[in-house]
Amino acid sequence: MGTSYQFGIDILAIVAVVQFLFGAAAVWLFGGGQSRGGSTESSGIAELEALREKQREDSKKIQEAMQQVYRLTGRIGHDVGEHSARVKQINEELSDASHGNNVDAAIVDALAKVTEANEKLQNELRSAEAKLAEQAAALQSQMEMARTDALTGALNRRAFDDEILRRVSEYQRYRTPVSLLLFDIDHFKKFNDTYGHQTGDDVLCHVACTLSMVMRDVDLVCRYGGEEFAVILPATEAPGAVLAAERARTAIERMVVEVNGQQLKVTASCGVAEALPSEEVETLIARADQGLYASKKAGRNCVHLHDGVKLLLSGKSESAATLQAGAEKPVADANRDPLPSLPNREVFGEDVRKRIEQHHKYHAPVTIMYCGVDGFASIVKTHGHEAGNVVLRAVAQFLKSILRDQEMLARVADDRFAVAFAGVTATETTPKIERIRNAVEKCRIPVDGLDALQFTASFGLAEIADGDDAAKLMERGLEAFASAAERGNAVRVNDGLVAIEA
Ligand code: GH3
Ligand code: MG
Ligand code: MG
Repeated sequence: MGTSYQFGIDILAIVAVVQFLFGAAAVWLFGGGQSRGGSTESSGIAELEALREKQREDSKKIQEAMQQVYRLTGRIGHDVGEHSARVKQINEELSDASHGNNVDAAIVDALAKVTEANEKLQNELRSAEAKLAEQAAALQSQMEMARTDALTGALNRRAFDDEILRRVSEYQRYRTPVSLLLFDIDHFKKFNDTYGHQTGDDVLCHVACTLSMVMRDVDLVCRYGGEEFAVILPATEAPGAVLAAERARTAIERMVVEVNGQQLKVTASCGVAEALPSEEVETLIARADQGLYASKKAGRNCVHLHDGVKLLLSGKSESAATLQAGAEKPVADANRDPLPSLPNREVFGEDVRKRIEQHHKYHAPVTIMYCGVDGFASIVKTHGHEAGNVVLRAVAQFLKSILRDQEMLARVADDRFAVAFAGVTATETTPKIERIRNAVEKCRIPVDGLDALQFTASFGLAEIADGDDAAKLMERGLEAFASAAERGNAVRVNDGLVAIEA
């Protein structure tokens, strides 16, 4: 036998993790981050100074975490060196013994020593690996905090600057389109003056939440300045970006924030731009900003696209502002009405079957969800079919906002929707569903004569378990849904346990 053997733990993997952490932290600490133009005057000097102070603190914490990781890797290097020396010594003993008579005994003895040395190193590496994992988690949480806006939980300006630069560079290299939306809350100064700064802060949180809810998972919602939000839409061309902007504008317009029994509302104006060949980040932002400015000038609560040459008012904003003379409608009205085109129960069943097949191959989790409007029949009876359709459309819109590519929303009965999520567990899915439940509850829909129709929805989830086929999984999903619907305004998971109480 020779001296070569496998370490139980792959040192290369640990080194790679550490290198990655250093790289990521270094990019965070030393790369990008300069603020780029834009209107920050509303933040105020004190606020800006507080932000800088926070960034200094974050940076210090990251440096500390990096130093700990560094010390740890130093120790691992030392341990590995010691181990190698020990193995070398054993090898030499074995080699000496092979020149004498007692070779068998020497081999047995050497084997025992190698095994012992190996075990010792493995134990040390195991404990080092656990510590590294701890450090990595701490580092990641610091880095996430440093990218997050403390008030709204959206990405902050620094994260925005990094991300937009990355996406635009990717576009210039690979031609993967990227679009940018800039939102600014209308007459927010007056709102603050009337209801107070604290209420203003609540509204900012609601706007951030509404934006995250109506955007796709891959979209990046950032707080750009005081009452300004930016959304980066990867892989999205101008028409899709205008649709998304309209969806968000409408959602903000419909949002109701309840403060001391008062129902408060705001609107926001929006500018949209898609990155153009050879365009710099600054120009892209400036064009979106011009779109925003045009929306303010056109009466607010509307969306303007800057197509690189001219400004176009989005067709769907017509009710809020008059169409500019000669302006074309930039976007076709496809997908305006999400209901008629939804796949039916059979197509959903087929989708579930396919996802289960994939599950058997790759073992990724599959979670299905059913959703229904509570008391739908009585809504239709009281307010008519059209009102029922408006309600269903709103719920479908909320549900569509959380779908990822290749996931579909199906309408499995008159008043019931279903989705099959691939690669996520029920536990991972429930917070999102809870957000939708909450959003639906807050949604007020203007219906003929009625100022605001209010309604709730219930959701049942089931995650694939051993021995499930499509029929079994769907049956469990329906059971969870029935249990949620019985209570109303609830989210429940397959095993009958209450995941999140309404
Ligand atoms: P416009 O429709 O033209 O955008 O009018 P506006 O009043 O929204 O615009 P302006 O830029 O004059 O005022 C922005 C206001 O946003 C000023 C400030 O009171 C408010 N604001 C900025 N940051 C915050 C914040 O963090 N919290 C609160 N509550 N208000 C903020
Ligand atoms: Mg502003
Ligand atoms: Mg404003």
